[in-house]
Amino acid sequence: MQPFADEFDRIIRDTYLKIIDVENLSEAQAIQIALPLKDGGCGLRTHTRNELERLFISSAMLIAPAVHAAIGQRVGLAGEVADPDAEDKSPYEACLEVCIANLERDHEIYRPDFLRADAHVARVWAGSVSEKLTRSAKVELDNIFSAMPRKQCKQGRARVLSCSGIGAQWLATAPTSHLTQISDADMRTDIRFRLGKETFGGTVCPHVTAEGRECGEECDPEGYHLLSCSPGGGYFVGHDGVCATVSNLTAGSDGIPGAIADWKPQVSVWPRATRGAEADVGFYRLPGSRDTYVDAVCSLANPETYPSCERKAGWLAEHKARAKNRDHPIFDNQTHRRMHPFDFCALSFERHGFWAKETVGFIKKLASSRAVALGLEPSEEIRRWYAVISCCIQRSNAKILRGEPVPGRPTPLPSRFAAMGRDLGFAA
Ligand SMILES: [Zn+2]
Repeated sequence: MQPFADEFDRIIRDTYLKIIDVENLSEAQAIQIALPLKDGGCGLRTHTRNELERLFISSAMLIAPAVHAAIGQRVGLAGEVADPDAEDKSPYEACLEVCIANLERDHEIYRPDFLRADAHVARVWAGSVSEKLTRSAKVELDNIFSAMPRKQCKQGRARVLSCSGIGAQWLATAPTSHLTQISDADMRTDIRFRLGKETFGGTVCPHVTAEGRECGEECDPEGYHLLSCSPGGGYFVGHDGVCATVSNLTAGSDGIPGAIADWKPQVSVWPRATRGAEADVGFYRLPGSRDTYVDAVCSLANPETYPSCERKAGWLAEHKARAKNRDHPIFDNQTHRRMHPFDFCALSFERHGFWAKETVGFIKKLASSRAVALGLEPSEEIRRWYAVISCCIQRSNAKILRGEPVPGRPTPLPSRFAAMGRDLGFAA
């Protein structure tokens, strides 16, 4: 099967590259696109020999009970009970045994138990092997990064880590509404960004402040400057967009029944000491929850600025979330007593996709309460929220990454944002 599998892989990959408008992939990028989405890839699994072996063995486990019931023979026991050199061994059994031995040798994958084999055991075994093959691919990718110059190595590691987690949901959603639509041009830019390919052709930053001052700094093609350029206002494009999206999901006309969102509330217990140390949105009347103020931050996992982000997925998102919580204390530092009747939650996202733990928890809670209120399947509703929010972040990324002019600060949003559940038009 291998030649056909290779051919199939080639066709799929070439088609994908044509769609995303990429001419060629480096060795590292080829491995990255084949990784699952949750591991920072593009989910374009390839049919390696080990993958074919995995599928063949798990299929054998699936049919084993039926074969036993039909003809009284056990599948998959040749290696254990029969003489390996026996003449009467069927070619099927011999082939199965070779596949099992290969996986044992190459990836230390344990021999499946064919005596207990059924659909469930087959699925569990195939899943654990798939995880192990993914881990091997990630080690291989990491070895390629290790051989690169120090800066590229760190950037590559930080990027793939930052691409992982549920923030990759934008790559696995149907564009069924404007909330989950990403234009073709934006999609191409976002996937190039994910793979570490250049997204910007110029060499000088084109950004201009609201006051008309040019940034003029040297600009790298991968977007590290553009995404952190303060005159560019890219920060606000992502920040305000994601606040508006979460507000709309929660308290828009089709949100959680009864929930209210108030954009840019003044919260007297957190005086505005520094810029940003003020909640962005207040959520009230959430079913079964305290009123919650949120503050959003979209950060770029750049090892030059944050050296730890190349070591652990989500390091930067968590770091930013902790800072936001320090700015908006709910509990007394000494006594650990609750000081306020309301809660605070940081909406902390990394540009490549990773979300902070508390952000994931909060979104899950909101999505679940909408699902409960409207009788929807909670896991599907949670996935929809992941999709809508991650699409919003990637749309704003694309705008910034191509160096298109973004306003220094968008026109101020209405102060009472989606208040009292009224249907406001979101033009963002
Ligand atoms: Zn700039």
